[in-house]
Amino acid sequence: DSALVWFRRDLRAHDHAALYHALKAARRVWCAFVFDATILDPLPRADRRVEFIRDSLESLDAQLRELGRRHGRPETGLIVVHGRPTEWIPRLAVDLHVQAVYASHDYEPQARERDARVRGLLADLGVVLHTVKDIVVFEADEVLSAAGTAYGVFGAYRKAWLKQLAPADLQPWPVERHAQALAPLPAHWRRPLPTLQDLGFEPTNLRALKVPTGTEGGHQLLDDFLERIDRYHETRDYPALKGPSYLSVHLRFGTVSIREVARLAWERAAAGSRGAEAWLGELVWRDFFHQVLHHHPHVVAHSWRPEYEHVRWERGRHADRLFEAWCTGRTGYPIVDAAMAQLNQTGYMHNRLRMITASFLVKDLGIDWRRGERYFAGKLNDYDLAANNGGWQWAASTGCDAQPYFRIFNPVTQSRRFDPQGRFIRRYLPQLARLPDALLHAPWQASPVELEAAGVVLGRDYPEPVVSHEDARQRALRRYAAARTGR
Ligand code: FAD
Repeated sequence: DSALVWFRRDLRAHDHAALYHALKAARRVWCAFVFDATILDPLPRADRRVEFIRDSLESLDAQLRELGRRHGRPETGLIVVHGRPTEWIPRLAVDLHVQAVYASHDYEPQARERDARVRGLLADLGVVLHTVKDIVVFEADEVLSAAGTAYGVFGAYRKAWLKQLAPADLQPWPVERHAQALAPLPAHWRRPLPTLQDLGFEPTNLRALKVPTGTEGGHQLLDDFLERIDRYHETRDYPALKGPSYLSVHLRFGTVSIREVARLAWERAAAGSRGAEAWLGELVWRDFFHQVLHHHPHVVAHSWRPEYEHVRWERGRHADRLFEAWCTGRTGYPIVDAAMAQLNQTGYMHNRLRMITASFLVKDLGIDWRRGERYFAGKLNDYDLAANNGGWQWAASTGCDAQPYFRIFNPVTQSRRFDPQGRFIRRYLPQLARLPDALLHAPWQASPVELEAAGVVLGRDYPEPVVSHEDARQRALRRYAAARTGR
């Protein structure tokens, strides 16, 4: 009996539930990844995520070979193809004569549809698709209120999540135990992995940015973060500091295991680390938004709160211009513009800045959160439907346990508080570097003499603000009030 493991967003060969179950159940196991043309085709020809995945597959292939070699199974490795999973998975199942295919649960609506179709096609061939929990600690139905319903308040969810957590939930899946079931690749599958060019893509600046890929890269970041985790609660909000873990892209593509990182944080938190406790809380948010998406799939396209479905967002040419200014980092608010430059140049944005820029788009510019959500989706290396949608709906006050509508971030206050010396702003907006700290957050408040001394001409080197925050705030309050009262 033979099996195929279909890798998707779980690109590692250790602590892997599907791989473990396949190796345990079957005598011969192969591993495959499909570059899904349905996802790849609409992307721009340079995409950091495609490059991250490709490089991480090289690492996965090496891990599988090494695992096989250590267990007396040379010539193992990863099969990588490009096309549609609905064609490739059944085709591989036939080609390799397997009776079962194993994969991790994928929770996004489109992924579930894909899996349902593949399951049906395999069933026609007499092959079973087994899917198992891997990418979250607790699935949507595992943490429920006493009444058996989904939590709508994060605090209560976190409390229940932590109460329920037991060592067994974070136990690694010991794939080594049955690794002798890894089967040699048939001769026609012993070929080099496709290059980016083979996939029709061009290199990005991922390497220049030194974003570490693969499990090795994930572990490198994890080791580095463990040196800092105890201070996380104090440093996490300051974008100029190396506060967060930068693990999000690795958690997105499963090059590290959620269990291994949660276990480390849990142990440290139990030993009294407040930083580790705060960080574990962020991993709980991750599960929380997955369960929101599962129980309320309408959030993909609609407000979680029905009353905010009727907010009258700005539309038309003026709104398009404002949106464009936001996307390209030309709003005239340095903290917003520096954050958007970080996103556009690197595919990463610090969490505090995601909150500030999202709030600015929705509340200061009055633009529908869905437009911002889509823009982030196109740019973020760690883009994850559940977390991104949750984050946007939180900032827009439309979501489950979101920020109340009347809490409107003041971009200048936020900037002074979280980038007090302007180190982050200066990194991304060098044209403002010579402005003194006191003026950097709101250059329009500088006198002509001060601007001249800093060598800045507003409107030439840097834009005038596209809106006045005070006026925008009043408009936002009216906009939400009107939706709430149905006017
Ligand atoms: P750390 O602070 O080290 O956090 C550790 C991990 O916890 C993260 O890697 C992530 O997996 C998880 N996490 C942290 N915060 C959240 C959160 N609020 N919701 C869910 N999981 C969280 N995160 C994504 O992974 N993908 C997204 O597409 C995404 N979009 C966002 C959009 C908006 C508008 C906002 C406000 C937040 C978004 N987040 C998203 C959450 C958060 O900003 C990122 O997870 C974090 O900045 C990633 O950096 P890190 O790994 O260094 O974070």
